[in-house]
Amino acid sequence: MTVNREIHLAARPQGWPTADTFRLVTTEVPTPGPGQLLVRNQFMSVDPYMRGRMNDAKSYIPPFALDAPLDGAAVGEVVAGEAAGFTPGDTVVHGLGWREYALVDARRAEKVDPSLAPASAYLGVLGMPGLTAYAGLLDVAALRPGERVFVSAAAGAVGSLVGQIAKLRGAAHVVGSAGSAAKVERLRALGFDAAFDYHDGPVHESLKAAAPDGIDVYFDNVGGDHLEAAISALRLHGRVAVCGMIAQYNDTEPPAGPRNLALVIGKRLTLRGFLVNDHSHLREQFVQEAAGWLRDDKLSYDETIVDGIEQAPEAFLGLLRGDNLGKMLVRL
Ligand code: NDP
Repeated sequence: MTVNREIHLAARPQGWPTADTFRLVTTEVPTPGPGQLLVRNQFMSVDPYMRGRMNDAKSYIPPFALDAPLDGAAVGEVVAGEAAGFTPGDTVVHGLGWREYALVDARRAEKVDPSLAPASAYLGVLGMPGLTAYAGLLDVAALRPGERVFVSAAAGAVGSLVGQIAKLRGAAHVVGSAGSAAKVERLRALGFDAAFDYHDGPVHESLKAAAPDGIDVYFDNVGGDHLEAAISALRLHGRVAVCGMIAQYNDTEPPAGPRNLALVIGKRLTLRGFLVNDHSHLREQFVQEAAGWLRDDKLSYDETIVDGIEQAPEAFLGLLRGDNLGKMLVRL
């Protein structure tokens, strides 16, 4: 097998990406040099932050280059290469997704234990989304037992873990919002105390009905009307972990809300943005704890798997539309 297929950025999208944003390119499988590993990718991740990298804009992470492969988290098997600490057959997580074969600098590959969990789990529940949920809830929002929590995009990779970790850490009441009746049903099965479909009416009304005594912590994945509703529902000294604002990633105009920001003053609220990479010191602790919860059947996770590199653009668009339950992945 000498053929590798990869996805390039063909054009920078204005608003929603389309099929024309991407190009499938066939190349030769590269040969590893010293300190390099050739990895046959088994799963690649599509993540909301990738939409921001398609813009030519200054951000916390550089934009994707035009006419070059996209990148992002992937997990696969080492098939060739010589580097200390690695042997062919190892399962590694690295940052060169969006391609079938990756030539990875061994210093940027992390060996994972496939006997602890399936390889795909290292891109979701035991990977970056899992740590985002854990660090955002416990470190950034500093959840305390007995508190009331609201999380948006609650049926997604991060959100579904936020709600479950909140219950495991003693939250008194956990509310999730999501985009369909089926997702709401799934949240109830995962142990959320209440859940609503945000299409069913104004978010502030649905949240008030779901959390009549208010909330202490809001884990924001969505922004806009969700953040505005949460600010209204937050109690004195409430905290918001500002994780993402997916409702506006494809907007071409600045968003309108939240219109009630002045409530932050009287209620002494804290709104704190965070990036998961700033919390890597919690990684080891998180993996140990989450692996224990998985082993004891205290934590569940969903995956939505799309097959084939040629379907990766559609998987990414589906993620932005909400086609996924849990982590959206592409199997290669
Ligand atoms: P998800 O698995 O949650 O997938 C995204 C979900 O967003 C979709 O399934 C969809 O679900 C929902 N969504 C899309 N558009 C809207 C909208 N207009 N209003 C409400 N919901 C919408 O993705 P992740 O778990 O990977 O990421 C969740 C959030 O966390 C994102 O905002 C992401 O950018 C952020 N993030 C931030 C990190 C950080 O370091 N700060 C790290 C990782 C993620 P539905 O059907 O419910 O609409």
